[in-house]
Amino acid sequence: NLTSRLQEIFRKLRGKGKLTEKDIEEALREVRQALLEADAHYKVVKELLNNVKTKALQEDVLKSVTPAEQIIRILYYELLNILGGEKVDLNLGDKKPGIILVVGLQGSGKTTTCAKLAYRLSQEQRRVLLVGADTFRPAAGKQLQILGEKIKVPVYIDGSNPFEIIDGALKVAREKFSDVMIVDTTGRLHIDEEMMNELSELNKRYHPSEILLVVDGMTGQDAVNIAEKFNEKLPLTGVILTKMDGDARGGAALSVKAITGKPIKFIGVGEKIEDLEYFYPDRLASRILGMGDLASLVEKIEKNIELEKMAKLEEKLKKSKFDLEDFYIQLKELKKVGTFEQILDMLPYVPKNKINVELSEKEIKKFLAIIESMTPEERRNPSIINGSRRQRIARGSGTSVQDVNRLLKQYFQTLELIKQINKGKKSMFPFFR
Ligand code: GDP
Ligand code: MG
Repeated sequence: NLTSRLQEIFRKLRGKGKLTEKDIEEALREVRQALLEADAHYKVVKELLNNVKTKALQEDVLKSVTPAEQIIRILYYELLNILGGEKVDLNLGDKKPGIILVVGLQGSGKTTTCAKLAYRLSQEQRRVLLVGADTFRPAAGKQLQILGEKIKVPVYIDGSNPFEIIDGALKVAREKFSDVMIVDTTGRLHIDEEMMNELSELNKRYHPSEILLVVDGMTGQDAVNIAEKFNEKLPLTGVILTKMDGDARGGAALSVKAITGKPIKFIGVGEKIEDLEYFYPDRLASRILGMGDLASLVEKIEKNIELEKMAKLEEKLKKSKFDLEDFYIQLKELKKVGTFEQILDMLPYVPKNKINVELSEKEIKKFLAIIESMTPEERRNPSIINGSRRQRIARGSGTSVQDVNRLLKQYFQTLELIKQINKGKKSMFPFFR
């Protein structure tokens, strides 16, 4: 299945220390294949992978995060994005009773889902009236009545057509002070005009606060096509994917939001009445990627990235002794971590105009060479570096006295900055402790 395919791809990635562009492309090609085989819509897959690739190539290289973790993290965010980000709640309208129209093809799980929804809402202390308005399928009303009895929710089915039934139900709902009516509507084996017209009429007449489309999640691409067609004719407010407990391949869940623009609000995960879950995009993204709680892992990774940069810098800067050896290490680090300016940007208290932060790569190299040409004594005690020492160091490092002067100036500026920081605050990064 999708998850185990992806895990295999990640496992391979993890085996590699450093990822090349080719590794990334190769892995993403496999991810693409896995998603398509899981029945995700090709348009969605294409967009997803383009985004992941662009972001993967932009990311900085970091020590606390492996390249594989970095890709998984990016993939996670893109999945989340495609799945719709946040969980979307039901809208019960501002007038009572609110009306929820539940629509969908026969066999999709419409009637069962009406009962599951009713059960959930009644558990949340809402007064619910179930309404059986499927006059097309014989015994549809009876099925709803049996379910209603089980969950102790009243069911209304009297009338010979949906309008008669719903009008009657509205009266009862007002008498009972119901908060919401959940209306089971007519279905067909395939989308047909008669059904669509009836549903459109219902919408025009009753102004439901929700029109929820129930689709069978096991049907993969078909589920998305069905959702697209319903969405063209009816102002759907959300989708419920059923049978996600079986070997639903996940592709439908991935594609519905991206293709229709309508959020998945619930998923059906079994035949029992309580088997209806709110749809949490982050949980599905984690599940697809095969990680228990990826959201918190991602958070941890991100925190680590910050902490790594911060702690390193703080440790160095906070040393009461900050000699040229420390400066050397810092300059070397700078080459790896990014520009000094980027790092300073993360620090809340650093007066940026006090220090020349624009060190080019070439300059850093030069500075490193200069420090390498010093004696250990000079490195530990920079104030002894007088004119003749400067000349010697410049000769030894193949630089000029001006270069040496600039390095020393830079060093003393940094030292001054550190003294200021240490005087003012215990920690430069109070938010991270
Ligand atoms: P309707 O024709 O759309 O009203 O569909 P029904 O509500 O009668 O459901 C059709 C079948 O799908 C029934 O056997 C249900 O028990 C089953 N079903 C509905 N939802 C789920 C689900 O989330 N998981 C599983 N495994 N079966 C479901
Ligand atoms: Mg039914």
